Amino acid sequence: MDARLEAIRDTVLARNPGEGEFHQTVTEVFDSLGPVHDRHPEFLEGAVLERLCEPERQIIFRVPWTDDAGGFQINRGFRVEFNSALGPYKGGLRFHPSVNLGIIKFLGFEQIFKNALTGMPIGGGKGGSDFDPRGRSDAEIMRFCQSFMTELYRHIGEYTDVPAGDIGVGGREIGYLFGQYKRITNRYESGVLTGKGISWGGSLVRPEATGYGTVIFTEEMLKTRGQSFEGQRVVVSGSGNVAINAIAKAQALGATVVACSDSSGYIVDEAGIDVDLLRQIKEIERGRLKDYEARRSAVSYVEGGSVWDIDATVALPCATQNELDGDAAARLVRNGLLAVGEGANMPSTRDAVAVFQQAGILFGPGKAANAGGVATSALEMQQNASRDSWSFAHTEERLTEIMVGIHERCSATADEYGDPGNYVLGANISGFVKVADAMLAQGLI
Ligand code: GLU
Repeated sequence: MDARLEAIRDTVLARNPGEGEFHQTVTEVFDSLGPVHDRHPEFLEGAVLERLCEPERQIIFRVPWTDDAGGFQINRGFRVEFNSALGPYKGGLRFHPSVNLGIIKFLGFEQIFKNALTGMPIGGGKGGSDFDPRGRSDAEIMRFCQSFMTELYRHIGEYTDVPAGDIGVGGREIGYLFGQYKRITNRYESGVLTGKGISWGGSLVRPEATGYGTVIFTEEMLKTRGQSFEGQRVVVSGSGNVAINAIAKAQALGATVVACSDSSGYIVDEAGIDVDLLRQIKEIERGRLKDYEARRSAVSYVEGGSVWDIDATVALPCATQNELDGDAAARLVRNGLLAVGEGANMPSTRDAVAVFQQAGILFGPGKAANAGGVATSALEMQQNASRDSWSFAHTEERLTEIMVGIHERCSATADEYGDPGNYVLGANISGFVKVADAMLAQGLI
């Protein structure tokens, strides 16, 4: 790392002890930015990096709620409003027991650059809670969401901060959150949340957008080597919203997706995963992946273990951060891997990224490859602002244009900085320069 940037990075790490994932993303982004500071001394003079690493506002709050047995439950809620240089804070809410301030800050920091890359007018933020939705009834989920919004409502708004979903937060949770916001504020403010239902201000394609976008971005990378998804053998990790839609799109483009996972294990279905069955089990029944095995022939379910033990030509990690390490990366590379598209946020460890890059594997980092979700959220905001709703075909066309545009921008920036094909460098530099220019133009704030 450039020595000037390393000194700033070290201060950031020392000021934010114990936030491992935040340290990881800051280090990864700073690693790319040395050459930018040679060309743009004004960024150092304007303390852009120091400002970028300090969120504009961090809100931490108590979320009290009652469970079905009448017991009192207390969780912790977060909203980190990281950077508003390009637009209102925008980013999802994650409900998962692993959530803490460091995780939300890592996600919020990534979101700044991801959102800049989409070309849409959105700043970066993230939030969530250490609430564990697993095994909770609908009524419990509703009471939790209502309590969470009872504090959050005063911090958000269509021109201020626009939350959406992430792990553990889908259409059901957005519904309860929106209902409570409307009730407290007495405003039907559609643009305050995205990922809404279609009849009450949502956008078509938003549910599919992250998974579809990841595949579209990966297809663009494959094209640079004269390849496509046609005939590829694909392994996807996860089986939530992003994974399911990535599987559907990859198979629509002619690939065979042979495996996917959940936190208990993975399935191998050599004939290609039956997406309708997977949706039925995961989205409608809210069941476990294990249930898939009994309902389809020639499928094996492996309890525990890693889905990355299965060979693939294309790997799409769509589960969670740091789920694919250096050893798994080396094994995939030895067994014929061509490309990786990150559907999750920072699913590859730093070691894994190094292995992929040294081997010349096409590697699409999450902040580029999974930007389709938040980009379509911005399209939802556009529709809300104009009180309009677009067709599936039109919205999907916009998503495709955005993903192709992100690929072009990353690729052109990597060329410009003398490292063709390095999408990590391209994404970090191109997102950073856009935000840094806007920050300087807006003065010391
Ligand atoms: N949680 C998603 C992400 O990581 C989407 C955020 C949004 O739509 O605001 O980008």
